[in-house]
Amino acid sequence: MRDQTLMNAPVNPKKLIKGALGDWEVVIGMEIHAQVTSRSKLFSGAPTAFGAEPNDNVSLVDAAMPGMLPVINRECVAQAVRTGLGLKAQINHRSVFDRKNYFYPDLPQGYQISQYKSPIVGEGEVLVDLPDGESIRVGIERLHLEQDAGKSLHDQHPSMSFVDLNRSGVALMEIVSKPDLRSSEEAKAYVTKLRTILRYLGTCDGDMEKGNLRADVNVSVRKPGEPFGTRCEIKNVNSIRFIGQAIEVEARRQIAIIEDGGTIEQETRLFDPNKGETRSMRSKEEAHDYRYFPDPDLLPLEFDQAFVDGLAAGLPELPDAKKARFIESYGLSPYDATVLVAERASADYFEAVAQGRDGKIAANWVINELFGRLNKEAKGIEDSPVSAAQLGAIVDLIGDGTISGKIAKDVFEIVWSEGGDPRQIVESRGLRQVTDTGAIEAAIDQIIAANPDKVEQAKAKPTLLGWFVGQTMKATGGKANPAAVNALLKAKLGIE
Ligand code: ADP
Ligand code: MG
Repeated sequence: MRDQTLMNAPVNPKKLIKGALGDWEVVIGMEIHAQVTSRSKLFSGAPTAFGAEPNDNVSLVDAAMPGMLPVINRECVAQAVRTGLGLKAQINHRSVFDRKNYFYPDLPQGYQISQYKSPIVGEGEVLVDLPDGESIRVGIERLHLEQDAGKSLHDQHPSMSFVDLNRSGVALMEIVSKPDLRSSEEAKAYVTKLRTILRYLGTCDGDMEKGNLRADVNVSVRKPGEPFGTRCEIKNVNSIRFIGQAIEVEARRQIAIIEDGGTIEQETRLFDPNKGETRSMRSKEEAHDYRYFPDPDLLPLEFDQAFVDGLAAGLPELPDAKKARFIESYGLSPYDATVLVAERASADYFEAVAQGRDGKIAANWVINELFGRLNKEAKGIEDSPVSAAQLGAIVDLIGDGTISGKIAKDVFEIVWSEGGDPRQIVESRGLRQVTDTGAIEAAIDQIIAANPDKVEQAKAKPTLLGWFVGQTMKATGGKANPAAVNALLKAKLGIE
């Protein structure tokens, strides 16, 4: 973990921001709200399904009718523990639910049930892979369970606001990082990795568009080696790209103020992606006094180590372990392994292709051809028209010399748009590679006879071989075995 405040923490000069009066270091800590994957809410049996009619998923508890009592949902507790295990964190066998009191029209209880001093999960860490290949460890401060609020609708009626309580009482995990991040790149990579881990665990779907993963981003700046500066908190940023933009503009805003002789006020701000700026929402003086106290309707939450062990035994292989295994058993580069494990479905697809085949070639086809094609059409791996079995068959056809890599791309394209068995496609369309040297030789002889000037030039300038290779491939409809073409051409042109 990084040195929290002090002088000797290593500073990467590339990550510093240039101000008018020298270099600045940005310091970031994040509070992520992740909606727990669970069929029912944290303290009621109402469903959590997305897309229901307003107020369809509301029980008497969620509507805070007088005398209703919350009952803890065991599955939400299990999900929080699984997440804690995935974050290599301390699991607290005893935690306490508190009331966080505030008035809000879409919060009928008048308080949110949350965890304050005694959260269910304590310190942990996330290993974050950065785009340049470097890895950093980001400390987790805590994870606690709490209720989500409802939603006020101001655009349904000219003179009234409506309230939709479908989300009221849905379980959230608030995951708080230590202030260990030092650039917008690191912050984006952290959220990306955290989301990957949550998806592997199946504890949150990470869908930021639906608001199922939201980030509060705390930003401060300092001169390298100095103690932390005063932070501002940017609330509810809802995409990874916006997280990066919000940090960049907020850091520059703070640097400009300090360089101008001013000081940073601790406050809550909002990011406006259209204007590309953050603006004040409330200052520290206006900060809420939530009057936290233990919820008298709920006993402290207690479970034993056997409960934790049972959940640990059911966890899937997580991305770091999978990445290490891919490097080890398929000989992949760390970069390729990182790309493949980013989604569990991609990793599974890759393994189905690589099974019994060359891992590096399989990775190459999955990453370059398949992902490239999927991205082009904004499709996910689940919607791939080419199955792992079909892609595996294409790789086999290259491997046994039936087709060249170039023809394989054509076959891939045919399977993508028309489907079918790659081997049959190769046979029925006559795409088989020509390894018959007689046929290739005949083509070469014709080309040589028709281009005596080029033959002379090639003797002096062997790089012209490429031109002859191109002509031969053209003459054979791209089906000639490239190795045979090269060898025959060199022999006939007398090039070494
Ligand atoms: P609060 O309870 O007021 O929200 P916390 O101490 O829990 O305050 O911190 C909230 C978040 O702010 C954490 O993610 C933490 O890492 C981050 N943070 C704390 N100090 C700083 C700082 N000086 N600069 C940037 N982020 C910070
Ligand atoms: Mg906070």
